[in-house]
Amino acid sequence: MSDKRDYYEVLEISRTANEEDIKKAFRRKALQYHPDRNREEGATERFKEINEAYQILIDPESRARYDRFGHQGVNGQASRGFEGFNDFGGFGDIFESFFGGAAGTRNRRGRDVELALSVSFRDAIFGTSRETDVMRREICSRCSSTRGEPGSATQTCPTCNGSGNVRRAQRTLFGNFEQISECSTCRGSGTKVERPCSQCNATGVSNHRRKISIDIPPGVDDGTRIVMRGQGDVGEFGGHAGDLYVRVHVEPDRVFTRSGNDVVIRAELNVVSAMLGGIITVPTLEGDKEIRIQPGVQTGHHEVIRGLGVPRLRNDGPRGDQIVQIAVITPRSLTQKQKKLVRELGETMRETDERALDPIIVQNEVSYGTQGNDDSIWSWLKGAFTS
Ligand SMILES: [Zn+2]
Ligand SMILES: [Zn+2]
Repeated sequence: MSDKRDYYEVLEISRTANEEDIKKAFRRKALQYHPDRNREEGATERFKEINEAYQILIDPESRARYDRFGHQGVNGQASRGFEGFNDFGGFGDIFESFFGGAAGTRNRRGRDVELALSVSFRDAIFGTSRETDVMRREICSRCSSTRGEPGSATQTCPTCNGSGNVRRAQRTLFGNFEQISECSTCRGSGTKVERPCSQCNATGVSNHRRKISIDIPPGVDDGTRIVMRGQGDVGEFGGHAGDLYVRVHVEPDRVFTRSGNDVVIRAELNVVSAMLGGIITVPTLEGDKEIRIQPGVQTGHHEVIRGLGVPRLRNDGPRGDQIVQIAVITPRSLTQKQKKLVRELGETMRETDERALDPIIVQNEVSYGTQGNDDSIWSWLKGAFTS
């Protein structure tokens, strides 16, 4: 769906709405469009839209991503509440769980994990693959997510009869609702263990340092974020794993800098080369290349080597170029012999170029205000001379 509506618009709230505003708006809208109450055509779609907007905006992390990157930043995240809820009976359950505050659903998606990674300029251009350690929550190695000490017996949770939720009738302005909240005895798992696992404190997941291989695609720039789906924290009770976000830092290079998809180098020429022109050798990302410099080149001139810049991410377009910026360097000191030669050169140049030895001052246009105005610099000057 490319023509998604703005989530704030869907809930009819301002972008500065706080958590309470979001909850209120959701309740109001959800009641209006809940499929059990509203049989109008499109009500189900509206309800889904409302639900999705709520899920994104109520979570500070996903809301911040949405604020910065729009729908793209939260792609696919809001759908998780609907997995397995194709029939309307399921809708009722999830609807109730919102009124219960804390989610009563048992399978929880794992959290996203963020990682910073430094790569060299060249690796960022051509792409690379990197092994790195990531700390994340994985299925507990001691209890294999049974949440009990090895050999410890498990039984159905007596408080919730294995459902993981406890239900409580709640009377509200809109009528009676069942409030569902997580069972505190079994923390939503539905089972009770005799002796809780000492490693994971009966959560079934624990922290692991895991070596993973990260593919850096060609053309990444400083600050690019690579998303690795399902490589974040494992979900509890069989929920989906979160994602791993790799933020790439590109180290500066001694020779090359980057400008969009172009790479830029600075080539310094001495005055003689600049005057006579010729072939110079410059480094490129693909080895040394020769380029021709026209006689009389000036500082600030640049030459373009086509196709030797940065490949586009995901091959969507031609490769960038290499820009060679020319700087003409005037010698700081000359020998007596060199001075004599330069003077001779100057004498010969006087015949062809009047600017050869005498500087021409190029003046900028400066406005001192309009003539006749008493505040102008002219009247001030006039006053200064007559008094
Ligand atoms: Zn454990
Ligand atoms: Zn329970």
